Amino acid sequence: MVQIDLLKSQAESRAASPGRLVVVSNRVPVPTAAGSPPPGGLAVALSGALESQGGLWFGWSGKVATDKDPEVHHQSVGNIDYAVVDLSRRDIDEYYHGFANRVLWPVCHYRLDLADLSRRDVNAYFRVNEQFARRLARLLKPDDVIWVQDYHFIPMASFLRDLGFANKIGFFYHIPWPPSDLAAVIPAYDRILKSFSAYNLIGFQTPVDAENFRACLTRSGVGSDLGGDWVSAFGRKFRAAAFPISIETATFAQDARVAEKNVVVKRTLQSLEGHPLVIGVDRLDYSKGIRERIDSFATFVEKSAAAMKARVTLLQITPKSRSEVPEYAEMQREVAEHVGHVNGRLGDVDWTPVRYVNKAMSRSALAGLYRIAKVGLVTPLRDGMNLVAKEYVAAQNPDDPGVLVLSRFAGAVHEMPEALIVNPYNLEETASAIQRAFEMPLRERKERWRAMMDTIEANDVENWCRVFLHELGGRFEDREVAGATAGAAAGWRVGVPDWTAAGR
Ligand code: UDP
Repeated sequence: MVQIDLLKSQAESRAASPGRLVVVSNRVPVPTAAGSPPPGGLAVALSGALESQGGLWFGWSGKVATDKDPEVHHQSVGNIDYAVVDLSRRDIDEYYHGFANRVLWPVCHYRLDLADLSRRDVNAYFRVNEQFARRLARLLKPDDVIWVQDYHFIPMASFLRDLGFANKIGFFYHIPWPPSDLAAVIPAYDRILKSFSAYNLIGFQTPVDAENFRACLTRSGVGSDLGGDWVSAFGRKFRAAAFPISIETATFAQDARVAEKNVVVKRTLQSLEGHPLVIGVDRLDYSKGIRERIDSFATFVEKSAAAMKARVTLLQITPKSRSEVPEYAEMQREVAEHVGHVNGRLGDVDWTPVRYVNKAMSRSALAGLYRIAKVGLVTPLRDGMNLVAKEYVAAQNPDDPGVLVLSRFAGAVHEMPEALIVNPYNLEETASAIQRAFEMPLRERKERWRAMMDTIEANDVENWCRVFLHELGGRFEDREVAGATAGAAAGWRVGVPDWTAAGR
C-alpha cells in the first residue's frame, strides 16, 4: 500500500514538474571567492542547465579526508546545491590515481602498454563508487533526473539501482571507448559492462565509440543490438549513442576578438618579431602525441628552406597533469629533454624553433594565441573529442583564418572533416600538412574555416547539454525488458526507491 502511494506521488510530481537535475562528476566546480579561474565550457553548460531546472551537483571535493567517515559539505548558490565529499588517501590512490587513471584511461586511449592490468585497484573503484552512491542516495528525490559524468563513475547507476532508485539516469563517457578486443583487457570487464546497463542513456563522443561499446555487449554475448542506438543487455533495454561535446563557441570567438589587448598575447607577438607561429595546446598526457608533434614540426622545418628562412616557431603550451602517476612523471622528463635536443639541432643564436611552456594559460590568453597562430596543430594519438581543435577554429579571424591540422584519431575529426586530416604517427604526412597549411590560398582557408565554424556554432556546448537532457527526458518505459523478473535477474530491484536502504 505504501508502495502504491509512493508510486502515485512519484507519477504526480513528475507530471507537475520535470524534476531536479542532479549532476555527478569526479570534480565539482564549487564557486569560490573572487580570484578563482573562470570555469571551463562544460562547467558553464552544466551550471546553466542546473540553474534553470534547479539542481544538485555532487562529487569529490578534491581533498583528502581527515575523518574516517567524512561528511558531505554543502553550499548553495542561486538554484544550485553543491555537495562534495572528501576521500581518504587510500581511496584517492586506488580509485582515482589507480583504477581510473592507470587502467581505464590508458586502455580507453589504446595504450595497453601503459596500463596496470593487475586487479589491484579494481575493488577500490567499485567500493568508492558505492560510497559515493550511498551518500548521494540520501540527497535524491524520486523525480530527480540524474546525469553521471565520465569514467570515474561507470558503476554509479548500478549502485543507485541496488538502493532501489528507478529514476532516469544518464551517463556521458568523455573519453574514447575502444574496440572489444582492447576493452576486454579491463579487469572486471564483465562487471563494468553490466554496470553500464543500469543507465537509461549512455552518451559517447563519436559514433565510432558508441558502435565499439555496443559491439562489446554483443561480442561478449551479454547483449544484443536492437538498432537505432538501442541495446538490450543484462535484462535491460537502453540507448548508447553519440553526443559530441563542444565549447562555448560564441563566447570563445568574442574573447579572441578582444584578446589582442591581453598582455601574454602582446608579449608573444613582440617576441616573434613578425615571424609566423604554429600552436599546440595540450595537457601533458601521453595520449596527446606531443613528442610525435615536435618531431613532425622538426621534419617540416628541416625539409622546408622557406620555414628555416621565415624562422617559423612552434609554441607548445603544455600544463603538467597527473604528476603522481609514474607514467606521467616519466613522460614529463622525456618530452622536456626531447625539446632540448630538437632546439639544439635546429635553432640558432636568435631563433628557438620550439617554445615549450609548462604553464597553464587563461582562456583569454589562449584565445588570443590561437588567433595569431597561422596553424593549429592538434595531433593527439587518441582523444575523446579534443576541445582545443574547436577552440582554435572559434578563435580565428574570419577575414584571415588560420588552418587546423587535425589528427584522424581525435573525436573532433567526425565533425570537422574540413581540417587538414593527418595520421599523427606519420611524421612526414604531418610535416607536409603544415607545409600545405602555410601555402593555402586565402579563399580555401576561408571556405574550410566557414564550414567548421558553422558546425561548432550549431553544436555548441549548450546545445550538447540540451540535446542530451532532452533525450534522457524521453520515454524509457521499456527499460525493464520483462518487468520485475528481468530486473531481478539482472540483480537489481526495480520500482520505487527503497527509503530504508537509501538511508533516509
Ligand atoms: N586549457 C587551458 N589552459 C591551458 C591549456 C589548456 O585552459 O594552458 C584548456 C583548453 O582551452 C581546453 C582544455 O583545457 O578547453 C583541454 O581540453 P581538451 O578536450 O583539448 O583535452 P583534455 O585535457 O580534456 O584531454
